Amino acid sequence: MNGYFDHNATTPLQPAARDAWLRASEKHWHNPSSLYRDAGLAAQQLESARERLGTLIGADAERIVFTSGATESNNALFASLPPDAVVLVSAIEHPSVREAARGRNVVELPVNADGVVELNAVKPLIEKRPALVSMMAANNESGALQPWRELAALCREPGVPFHTDAAQWLGKLDAANLGECDFITGSAHKFGGSKGCGFLVLPKEHSRLGFIRGGPQESGRRAGTENYPAIEAMVTALESITPRLSEIELTQSKLRDEFIMALRARFNALRVISESAPRLWNTVLMVMPEHDNLKWLTRLSRRGFSISTGSACSSGKEGSSVVVTALGASAEELKRVVRISSGWETTAADWQALAAAFIEVYEELNRGGRPQ
Ligand code: PMP
Repeated sequence: MNGYFDHNATTPLQPAARDAWLRASEKHWHNPSSLYRDAGLAAQQLESARERLGTLIGADAERIVFTSGATESNNALFASLPPDAVVLVSAIEHPSVREAARGRNVVELPVNADGVVELNAVKPLIEKRPALVSMMAANNESGALQPWRELAALCREPGVPFHTDAAQWLGKLDAANLGECDFITGSAHKFGGSKGCGFLVLPKEHSRLGFIRGGPQESGRRAGTENYPAIEAMVTALESITPRLSEIELTQSKLRDEFIMALRARFNALRVISESAPRLWNTVLMVMPEHDNLKWLTRLSRRGFSISTGSACSSGKEGSSVVVTALGASAEELKRVVRISSGWETTAADWQALAAAFIEVYEELNRGGRPQ
């Protein structure tokens, strides 16, 4: 049994990505900026990885800047905006967008009762020509898919730059149209690549990126020796998973929904956030009918299951769910939020074991008994 249900926090390294990392590290460990033959070969491999990523996400390779992950990409983008810039930022963004946007003139985009940004509310704000609109592609807590393609189109006509943090979309749903967005954030460790590697896509003409300064790498837009092995592993991970995505979506969302049904049979007051919205096939964010989330988490952990309370980046803090807060939940409800996020290889038996463990923990908590 595999009890890991926290894939939105991070994922295990894919075997194909591990092989690619090892091959790249053994063969092309040279500094791509050096001038001898072996370095030139490493630079060629790096550029070929950029091309391959560009093909997967529908963006010209020259638009891609490799970074240390989504947090850096989001920070680099906001740092390139002047302090008086008006930015529209959705109410359910990851802290790496919300915090990076601080200090700019932020207008928050509200979400509806399903935790989805309402395009009708955004339209009049776009007419005021903000410097940037930022809305994630898929939410990390609820899995709710956001209308990024429609918003990118709405922004295109008046020439308003549009950014999507696609950290949770990439590797779970097809990314071939993401290139329609002016700016895209991605992170390797969310889809079987290694940690500390990601990218930012920007318009070709965007020349203000200089968040990390030093050498002339990445066409002068991001200094520091490129982590070619991690980049190779990231691109290989995305390449190997992409052809399987529609089949995985079909089988995994069915297993996820059966899990919800199994829990509902026991807890009829279970509230699943964004349940009627299109969501990632792997995610369930729920408000348990009783008992604090940390009690659920620790007792499930003792039984070999890894789940989370909201997002990993803000867990540890009580009542930390950005999404459930944006939906106007009470402080007491916030303490009962748990997030389950399965993976590409999660089986029916894993899901069934998790449902059974939830029911067992509930009985234990109700008895007021000591944890097993
Ligand atoms: N954005 C989103 C939507 C995320 O889910 C995460 C990871 N929790 C990040 C950004 C931060 O990613 P990284 O760990 O690569 O900095």
